[in-house]
Amino acid sequence: MHTLLGLKCVSCGREFTPDEIDYTCPACGPLTGTREVLYDYRAISKLLTRKTLAQNREFSHWRYLPLLPVLQPEKIQPLSVGWTPLYRSPQLENQWGLERVWIKDDSRNPTASLKDRASSVAVVKALEKGVGTVTAASTGNAASSWSAFTALAGLKTAIFVPQNAPRPKIAQLLLFGATVLKVNGNYDDAFDLCCRAAEKWGWYNRSTAINPYLGEGKKTAALEICEQLNWEAPDYVFVSVGDGCIFQGMWKGFKEFYQLGLIERLPKMIGVQAQGSAPLVRAWESRAERCEPLQPRTIADSISVGVPRDQVKALKAARESGGRFTAVSDEEILSAISLLARSAGVFAEPAGAAALAGLKKLAAQGACGRQDRVVVVVTGHGLKDIDGVMQAVSRQPLQVENDLEDVAEKIPSFFHC
Ligand SMILES: *Cc1c(COP(=O)(O)O)cnc(C)c1O
Ligand SMILES: [Zn+2]
Repeated sequence: MHTLLGLKCVSCGREFTPDEIDYTCPACGPLTGTREVLYDYRAISKLLTRKTLAQNREFSHWRYLPLLPVLQPEKIQPLSVGWTPLYRSPQLENQWGLERVWIKDDSRNPTASLKDRASSVAVVKALEKGVGTVTAASTGNAASSWSAFTALAGLKTAIFVPQNAPRPKIAQLLLFGATVLKVNGNYDDAFDLCCRAAEKWGWYNRSTAINPYLGEGKKTAALEICEQLNWEAPDYVFVSVGDGCIFQGMWKGFKEFYQLGLIERLPKMIGVQAQGSAPLVRAWESRAERCEPLQPRTIADSISVGVPRDQVKALKAARESGGRFTAVSDEEILSAISLLARSAGVFAEPAGAAALAGLKKLAAQGACGRQDRVVVVVTGHGLKDIDGVMQAVSRQPLQVENDLEDVAEKIPSFFHC
């Protein structure tokens, strides 16, 4: 039985059957015409209950299969996605006088970022369609994730990346066998070129937001948080934001669990952008319906986005949830990387730590109450961008001779009581 009913344009409300078109609403265009996936919630409410989930031994995000747009589950690839840890962090709680702070560590996915949630769903959709060639534009993580899944599925893969994509992400792409096209331009340029190629040559396109199924995969991070918190939803969820797809997807996930009666209240969604790449913050603060395009500049490559492709849904998510967008500087992001590493033992790439920088900022302003339950999503692993994360450390290894006396001399602080 399929629970997927159809898709609906977020702007004009037109409804589509699942196989009518693949991407955005033709009447509204690529930025405005992103589509929302509709399900039969009555049918789902019989399949997904607190009881069935408690008995479910599928410890990956496929435990939420009835709430995912999969028509042919046999096309699911074997890499294990999701069910990532949610850590309580007493050290962070103490620092900011908050009683409950959790870290959702989504760097613990097969290719080390949250993007695996989306790629694992998109590859099923590509196989259901019967395509042979696929593509994506990406700052790096979406593509490296996509390439792992498309390699497993035996699909020919062309990836468009910007000039500044970090080397470890390029290494992943090449090793998974993708053909990598490094575009002379930034991510927004790579995105446009990729969409043109996909349209011209009929390739299946996993580029964010225009493909409506990606947010469906990403929403499972929210579903897991609800279940891991024993069905008591958090008050605030902090997410780093580039295109806004994770942010809007997670909000949809919370709303769906609320609609299914699995949680009793909804969190406020706080989207964190880098100051040099904050079109959603600007739109939010000027109460605009749309973002003004800008030239992004930030160390956090995964959120270096000048034209947020999921802006309509993302702005709606912040509004509906009673949340907001906020910006943090690159310095604040760098200090959040080391704070996260030292106080929670979690190693994040710059965009992966940006949400924590946002919490630090809002906590200092007293925006969260002491008793509020706060979840911070870590979206990508520190090994994804070694040059970036090394800017967060001021120290260097100490050179020593093969001699204990020399060791003792170099680290006097270890011997003072
Ligand atoms: C993609 C990504 C983001 C931002 O996600 P959007 O859906 O573009 O807002 C944040 N952090 C990491 C590590 C990412 O890979
Ligand atoms: Zn429309």
